[in-house]
Amino acid sequence: VSGVARPRSVETVVVGAGQAGLMTSWFLRRAGREHVLLDRRPTLGGGWQDRWNAFQLVTPNFLTSLPGLDYTGPDPDGFMVRDDVIARFRSYAATIEAPVELDTDVTRLVALAPDGGENRFRLTTNRGSLDARNVVVAAGPFQVPHIPRVGAGFGPTILQVHAHDYREPDGLPSGGVLVIGSGQTGVQLAEELHEHGRQVVLAVGHCGRTLRRYRGRDSFWWIHQIAVHGAAVGAPLPSVSTLADGRARYACNPHLSGHHGGHDTNLRVMARDGIRLVGRLLGADGARATFAEDLRANLQFADGFFDERIRPLIDRYIERIGDPAPAGEVPQFAYEPPEVPELNLADEGIGTVLWSSGYRAAFAWIDLPVFDDLGLPRQVDGLSEVPGLAFIGTPWLVDMASANLAGVARDAETLVASL
Ligand SMILES: Cc1cc2nc3c(=O)[nH]c(=O)nc-3n(C[C@H](O)[C@H](O)[C@H](O)COP(=O)(O)OP(=O)(O)OC[C@H]3O[C@@H](n4cnc5c(N)ncnc54)[C@H](O)[C@@H]3O)c2cc1C
Repeated sequence: VSGVARPRSVETVVVGAGQAGLMTSWFLRRAGREHVLLDRRPTLGGGWQDRWNAFQLVTPNFLTSLPGLDYTGPDPDGFMVRDDVIARFRSYAATIEAPVELDTDVTRLVALAPDGGENRFRLTTNRGSLDARNVVVAAGPFQVPHIPRVGAGFGPTILQVHAHDYREPDGLPSGGVLVIGSGQTGVQLAEELHEHGRQVVLAVGHCGRTLRRYRGRDSFWWIHQIAVHGAAVGAPLPSVSTLADGRARYACNPHLSGHHGGHDTNLRVMARDGIRLVGRLLGADGARATFAEDLRANLQFADGFFDERIRPLIDRYIERIGDPAPAGEVPQFAYEPPEVPELNLADEGIGTVLWSSGYRAAFAWIDLPVFDDLGLPRQVDGLSEVPGLAFIGTPWLVDMASANLAGVARDAETLVASL
């Protein structure tokens, strides 16, 4: 309409300036592509800013070698603390001169009616609208903290906190803590609370356990090698298209720790050392919690995970490249904790439930029919069914490495080349 200013127009808008957005920006800049990154946060550092105070990466520092900024620090095999990770991505943004606009919340994305012009999309933000030919959604793999419905049964005497909001043991009321969820975060937080003298009960779910080191290397070193070079030698990671059930994209990450120099986390060892294990939380009624009698089965699953899912990938890759890596051992530990069908949390002196139950996607602001039943985008190598609309960094975008530092640079390079 004449007299109405047209929105600003940019060739490519990247929504999100976390690591995935920044790496996408590096590849866009290298290709000479005009773009801008929008992030609703007031500061750079993406989701790393939501982690607890003592958080350390599970992936070794060498994986923070980013396109355009190698890791040259003193401890490539160490595990960076939260504030150093944040600082690293801030310095990355500065080094690559990423065109970031902070405090900019994208509240709606729609397709424009074809009018012969170049722009396909309009983004509404709290700072006005933008039109773009391409939109890359780098909004994070872990967006909204998820608490299962069963939590509604706990009474008001029980404080419920999601790991997203947990910062340190002293931030919780005194007394015991029921940690729910045995993925990477739950196991690390159970360990942290136990080390701080808290009584800890850990509700163990169907979650794997992986090894810190295997065949002479950190296991993430192998995963990264396979993610980047595996396909070329006929030993790729399983891809998203091979997943029998799409829900596996939100399966918990196998537990492991970067704390204390990096170490294996074995629930049986933790149980022997005083953390009480129970099965999956089934019900909550006031201060009463009931648990599935699946602890034994869940521990068996955790024990077998590396052997069944990870070890064959690494062994096959090593065989294909002819690496003389030493043989690997998978240590086992026999302690068998008892099943506990029910606990009265009040009687046990437990006043806090700490949910380590993961995250869900939150793409309601995208007004385009590109999502599946679980709310994740239907896409191939990041490209959605709508030309010009792409995603980066979502769980299993390509494979198990896509939502972390082992795979996102690889995915961003592929994506930008085909955008
Ligand atoms: C507890 C935990 C531990 C992890 N540990 C590791 C680890 O050790 N190693 C590893 O490699 N990976 C790890 N990850 C996985 C992953 O690397 C991180 O989640 C990482 O932060 C993902 O980066 P990202 O750029 O994809 O997303 P984010 O860091 O989440 O960045 C997305 C950005 O998009 C912005 N945004 C979203 N929606 C909008 C919108 N509508 N408008 C404007 N801005 C928007 C957000 O504000 C955010 O800043 C971990 C994840 C979690 C949850």
